[in-house]
Amino acid sequence: MLASVDISDLARQMEAGMDRFSEQYGLESITEYRKRWAHPGRFDDATTMYVKRMLQIGLPEAVRGKLCRELFRRFVTADEATFVEELYCTEEQLRLMQACGMYIGCHGDNHTRLDTLEPIELDRQIESSLEFLRMIGSPVENFWVMSYPHGAHNTKVVEALREKGCSFAVTIESAHADLSTCDPLRLPRFDTNEIPLG
Ligand SMILES: [Zn+2]
Repeated sequence: MLASVDISDLARQMEAGMDRFSEQYGLESITEYRKRWAHPGRFDDATTMYVKRMLQIGLPEAVRGKLCRELFRRFVTADEATFVEELYCTEEQLRLMQACGMYIGCHGDNHTRLDTLEPIELDRQIESSLEFLRMIGSPVENFWVMSYPHGAHNTKVVEALREKGCSFAVTIESAHADLSTCDPLRLPRFDTNEIPLG
């Protein structure tokens, strides 16, 4: 969506939707939400961060789902299936990448922030992701790596991963990872935006 439309149009439409759902879902005022979430990030301006955060975590899950579907339909395409087919790797492509020496790791089942989940759902997110990796032939019994969705993790998440034999996990903390001192399940890393070109 961010690539398809001007960010202020997207924010306006998102807020129009919030107005519609406000009473039914007991939403807070737009002023409150803006105060909490409209702050510039490392790579994005305040409005972009506001839209991202509202649709990732700021609004109740049911409202996020409805709004994302509506906005996607309006600004990107009504044909989600074709869009998905063109954009994402297929299982066959993933197998080929692995055969060529690339490593495919775990990123949760549906990109939910793992630090917001109850233990049962946390377990399901990890197991379902590992199941997918097994299916594409990744040897998860001996070695597997997690990239936390949105970088979100806490002690409970880290311990759950440790119990399941996770080898390494990467956060979104921006720093060199010193493997002799860092917790292997809390490794910092650089964003591609931080790597100098040329
Ligand atoms: Zn992600």
